[in-house]
Amino acid sequence: MSNLGIYIEIKKGKIQKNVKEVVSLAKSSGNTIFGVIFTNEFQNFKDELNGFDKIINVKGDSLVFHPDSFSETIAEIIKEHDMEYFMGSYSFKAKEIFPRIAGKLDECSLVNDCVNYDFGSAIAIKPVYSGKLLKEIEIKNKLKLITLRSNVFPVVDLDAGSPELIEKTISDKIRSKVINVKKSESKSIDIMDADIIVSGGRGMKEKENFQILEGLASILNAGVGASRAAVDSEFASYNMQVGQTGKVVNPKLYIAIGISGAIQHFVGMKTSKIIVAINKDSEAPIFKKADYGIIGDLFKIVPMLKDELEKVL
Ligand SMILES: Cc1cc2nc3c(=O)[nH]c(=O)nc-3n(C[C@H](O)[C@H](O)[C@H](O)COP(=O)(O)OP(=O)(O)OC[C@H]3O[C@@H](n4cnc5c(N)ncnc54)[C@H](O)[C@@H]3O)c2cc1C
Repeated sequence: MSNLGIYIEIKKGKIQKNVKEVVSLAKSSGNTIFGVIFTNEFQNFKDELNGFDKIINVKGDSLVFHPDSFSETIAEIIKEHDMEYFMGSYSFKAKEIFPRIAGKLDECSLVNDCVNYDFGSAIAIKPVYSGKLLKEIEIKNKLKLITLRSNVFPVVDLDAGSPELIEKTISDKIRSKVINVKKSESKSIDIMDADIIVSGGRGMKEKENFQILEGLASILNAGVGASRAAVDSEFASYNMQVGQTGKVVNPKLYIAIGISGAIQHFVGMKTSKIIVAINKDSEAPIFKKADYGIIGDLFKIVPMLKDELEKVL
């Protein structure tokens, strides 16, 4: 039995929902599962830590996310506990931390954005070329750093148990300083967390019209996404962009409004459970990919849809 660590990411005061997917996969390995959580308020999270055998609570004067201090601390933890695996969800923070951890440790392999990992054969599978191919990678090094694509792995019921608690102080090794953080303009739910996404394309015609989508999204408790054409036309901000050069999302419901359905957009949302398209062009490629399609003018259909939904939701 080996030691397997998991980065427990906290986002807006909550444990990121995809951590459960990582724990579910890790648990199937039969290894000893360590959770690594950076917080000075452990009591707020202790009831959400099902499935872990041990929890390492990293504390410090400042736990503001910084890839240098977080990666240095995790690298120390991996060495101290002789871990053979360290895993996490493939989030923006993980993209910053995991390569730095790999750079600090010897005989270590990092495979990001996996859609499968088999503990027996040590084979990871990840999409490449915008999801056109799946690549199988056999990891031969003893230490394996693996991040998993979100919303792909099933979540299983896990016992709360009574994990052993280990405390650790965050490293103070910081080589770069964040001078400014510019927050995005979008007020809606982050599309990476949303179960429903309402997305607009160039067909929205102008920035102000995205308010129509914000209205629909607020009824559905949805996030608002956008095509690259909408972002390039400055109707929407980049953090809303879905696709090859934006975010890869996997909601239960994706409503594409005034979006043609170009391959570069499709690769970012093709694993959505249900796709609904609203487009005035019956030949738009999005209709070949959608489960449900509405042909017509979005400026008539979306307000009607909103009115009907308001009656039932
Ligand atoms: C390397 C590369 C990377 C890229 N990455 C991305 C990416 O990450 N994400 C992305 O989205 N694209 C990406 N693209 C761009 C992509 O190829 C398309 O150009 C883009 O997705 C088109 O956006 P769109 O569907 O909003 O616009 P359009 O193709 O212009 O489609 C607009 C649609 O709106 C419909 N419409 C117009 N008016 C109305 C109305 N009143 N009512 C209903 N429907 C209406 C039209 O019929 C049309 O189908 C990338 C391209 C390249 C080359």
